[in-house]
Amino acid sequence: MTSYLNKRCNLWHMQKENLKYVSSGKAKDIYENSNDTLIFEFTDRVTAFDGKKKSEYNEKGEITCKIAEYWFKILEKNGIPTHYIECPTPTSMLVKRLDIVPVEVIWRNYMAGSLLRRYLAGDITLPQGVGTEEGSLIPGGMIEFTTKFEAVDRPVATDEIISNGWLSEEEIEYIRDLTKRINDIISQELTSSGIILADFKVEYGRTPDGEIILADEVGTPDGCRFWKKDEFEKGFIASLDKDVFRKNIGDLTVAYRELFNKLQKNNI
Ligand code: 5GP
Repeated sequence: MTSYLNKRCNLWHMQKENLKYVSSGKAKDIYENSNDTLIFEFTDRVTAFDGKKKSEYNEKGEITCKIAEYWFKILEKNGIPTHYIECPTPTSMLVKRLDIVPVEVIWRNYMAGSLLRRYLAGDITLPQGVGTEEGSLIPGGMIEFTTKFEAVDRPVATDEIISNGWLSEEEIEYIRDLTKRINDIISQELTSSGIILADFKVEYGRTPDGEIILADEVGTPDGCRFWKKDEFEKGFIASLDKDVFRKNIGDLTVAYRELFNKLQKNNI
């Protein structure tokens, strides 16, 4: 098994030299594998605050790749259409090539992050019944959209998404339903790991047939807020996600590995 994997890894590293480089995101490098598939290489890079804070952490690429693979497989099993094909090496993922929808989708179960910041700045009013402290439950959850291909991600209203021709009203409804289902599946899976899914970001893309499916990565500590349930019940927020880096409250690899180990107990 190990030698088979090593062979595949060596093959990938030899192939990588010959693959066409497409682009780099904040944490991933993208290569063209064929006309209709791409390879994502998960790196050890981490950035926050629109790229203003940057660093690298050993093993981060491998841990996030494995966690994304874990969730893609679970979501597929539960009927969520995704771009995931397979992971040829511990840090790379083969995916279907898509036409990426130019909005990012955020699902929130608890008050945190930019929602809290925008509320405290007086920029938004909160939906009825939502508390105003970090960690307040958002009854029923809420969805938000932000721009994807602008210099800085900004919240965008559904009217603007429709008038820009980014998504139709029906497609927004479809994405709302799919994102809620993703939230419910991941939250349900996490109950036995003692972790709360506070919020997350996902992206979607269109296949050549026009079907909208889940793209990018999902369920990783780069794109979700995960809180330890036992601490939360005592009134504290203990993060196992990128907030550790954003807030300078610990070693990112240690936090990501702790999350990974808790998921592994859940048969990663
Ligand atoms: P917030 O809007 O509160 O900063 O983020 C909400 C959720 O979306 C958090 O789980 C956060 O990690 C995720 N998120 C927001 N923007 C990005 C982004 O540009 N990349 C990734 N990977 N996740 C993001």
